[in-house]
Amino acid sequence: IKCIGVLTSGGDAPGMNAAIRSVTRTAIYHGIRVKGIYRGYKGLITGEIEDFETQHVSNIIQRGGTILKTARCPEFCTVEGRALAHETMRAHGIDALVVIGGDGSLSGAREFAEEYDIPIVGLPGTIDNDLYGTDLTIGYDTALNTIVSAVDKIRDTASSHERLFFVEVMGREAGFLALNGAIASGAEAAIIPEYAFEKDQLAETIENGFRKTKNSSIVLVSESESTGGAMKVAERVEKEYPQFDVRVVILGHIQRGGSPSAQDRILASRMGVAAIEALLEGQRNVMIGIVNDALVYVPFSKAIKKNKPIDEDLVDALRILSI
Ligand code: ATP
Repeated sequence: IKCIGVLTSGGDAPGMNAAIRSVTRTAIYHGIRVKGIYRGYKGLITGEIEDFETQHVSNIIQRGGTILKTARCPEFCTVEGRALAHETMRAHGIDALVVIGGDGSLSGAREFAEEYDIPIVGLPGTIDNDLYGTDLTIGYDTALNTIVSAVDKIRDTASSHERLFFVEVMGREAGFLALNGAIASGAEAAIIPEYAFEKDQLAETIENGFRKTKNSSIVLVSESESTGGAMKVAERVEKEYPQFDVRVVILGHIQRGGSPSAQDRILASRMGVAAIEALLEGQRNVMIGIVNDALVYVPFSKAIKKNKPIDEDLVDALRILSI
């Protein structure tokens, strides 16, 4: 491998810049040239590509977002689009790719690698933590910290007014942000896609909490289709319990922004080194994951399966701690 291309794709996540820096510097360290590809697969099709030296990635480890920009690119989902991307790669002399993104981005990488026999290594870059085969994804820890500091502020006003707040957090169809965010912020419950919270169960939790010991409550809700989102849940509860003073907060895109946490910077740095070493070892079509603090290779086909289990101990802990 003489030249690698690096791109970020799909939803942005804090720590992507630390990953770009690590990939770039590790490649250069090993005598490999680096091309930065802008706007994800879109830039791979249109040829928005720049030669990267070590100074291109100076002073970015602390910045949120991605200096390479990101985009959704429906064209890459087509055979024709990927053929164009392949032509661009060849024209720029790129022999291998490092793709930083979520499950959609890695699905695209898998298709592309199979069609054109290109070595590709993926890094899990998403705040959702929904990739199988890795305990953590780049951006998840920062997003979790953002949620916790927001909920701390909401709690101040919730308790002053004696209100019940439903706080909607991101996560697509995965409840990691909601469940862990709830535990870390001392919320009363988390409504997550993996556990269809029975209506009665939710009411019971809230009613018990309110009646017994609490004058305010906070419930975190995953934004997913299966939960219906915080608005829907709040409407339901309001109808049945008109005595509660209910409010909804949708945290939205602040969860994607901000300076990455130390943990995300370290994770991204370690994974970036591992991505280049994997390519040098002849690995291909794998995502770098981390399991019990050890870096592992996860085939794309496994990583994108969307069946990452939620930790049941955490569900129990939240239930116990909210009495
Ligand atoms: P996040 O989960 O953080 O939103 P993501 O990587 O899952 O990130 P997507 O929008 O699902 O984000 O995917 C990003 C891009 O990957 C798509 O715009 C498309 O270009 C490409 N892609 C997704 N799925 C496929 C697929 N099955 N085949 C080819 N390309 C795909």
